[in-house]
Amino acid sequence: MIRSRLAPTPSGYLHLGNALNFLLTWLLVRRQGGVLRLRIDDADASRSRPEFVADIFRQLEWLGLTWDEGPSGPDDFAARYSQLQRLELYRSLLARLADSGQLFFCTCSRRQINQATPDGLYPGTCRGRRDLPAAPHAIRIQVPPEWSVSLPLAATPPHPATPMGDFILWRRDDLPAYQLASLADDLADRINLVVRGRDLLASSAAQLFLASRLGGDGQDFWRAAFCHHPLIVAPGGRKLSKSDQDLSLAAMREHGVTPARIYREVAAFLGLDPAPIGSLEELQAAFNASPPALSCAGPAQEDRPDLQSRKA
Ligand SMILES: [Zn+2]
Repeated sequence: MIRSRLAPTPSGYLHLGNALNFLLTWLLVRRQGGVLRLRIDDADASRSRPEFVADIFRQLEWLGLTWDEGPSGPDDFAARYSQLQRLELYRSLLARLADSGQLFFCTCSRRQINQATPDGLYPGTCRGRRDLPAAPHAIRIQVPPEWSVSLPLAATPPHPATPMGDFILWRRDDLPAYQLASLADDLADRINLVVRGRDLLASSAAQLFLASRLGGDGQDFWRAAFCHHPLIVAPGGRKLSKSDQDLSLAAMREHGVTPARIYREVAAFLGLDPAPIGSLEELQAAFNASPPALSCAGPAQEDRPDLQSRKA
């Protein structure tokens, strides 16, 4: 049984790129009779705002998208589903990862890291530091510099993710970092299909690296399918961002854009003929009749670091 999720972050108003991701995920899950979960990634409390949570429900309803698990609305989300209520889940995954002996405390500021490396990759300053610092600190995991994983990109051969450095698992403000929270939720929700934009290729690689350090459900995650789709870009080729207010779904609605127009945009983006599409049912029928050349597949198993270290 396919289990996937819509996982927006409530740090801005949803835009056309989010609509593409949601529609594509919904189409893939519905085509296979799977289960779709709505998960709102609000662990970054400094960026999350209630009006953005409300916007997620408003735009999903407008697009006609349904989900099988997760919050029914903003109040239900706040009462039962906020990531801030799952901190124990994240702490327990952190504890499991700590067993690998590769976690360390880091007191570096973003400025110090940028000064030390031109590419912003963590230079390994605090590697091996196991004594709890008095100063504010994050917790990082040591990643072998040569490690990468090949992941499927839509309609192209598997693509090796870029080097990630020793990334953060637990933040200085005592909250889980995105990579840890996302993996913990995916494991707890038994997700086996992850649909993301190409910009999150490095995140998939980071989460697979963490999963490789775990037994049991961590190994199941290596059997999940990943689908990294191309991004819709703003005029001029820029990546769409939640700070592009004009291109938000809310603003498009105000300017008279209909859901049918969004379905046609998405159809065209997926290489389907947009002309006859006027409803979600018609988009679904067209998608099911000629599925686009998306490659949704698992990571290359030979990239699993635990297998590599056994070979070495
Ligand atoms: Zn450091």
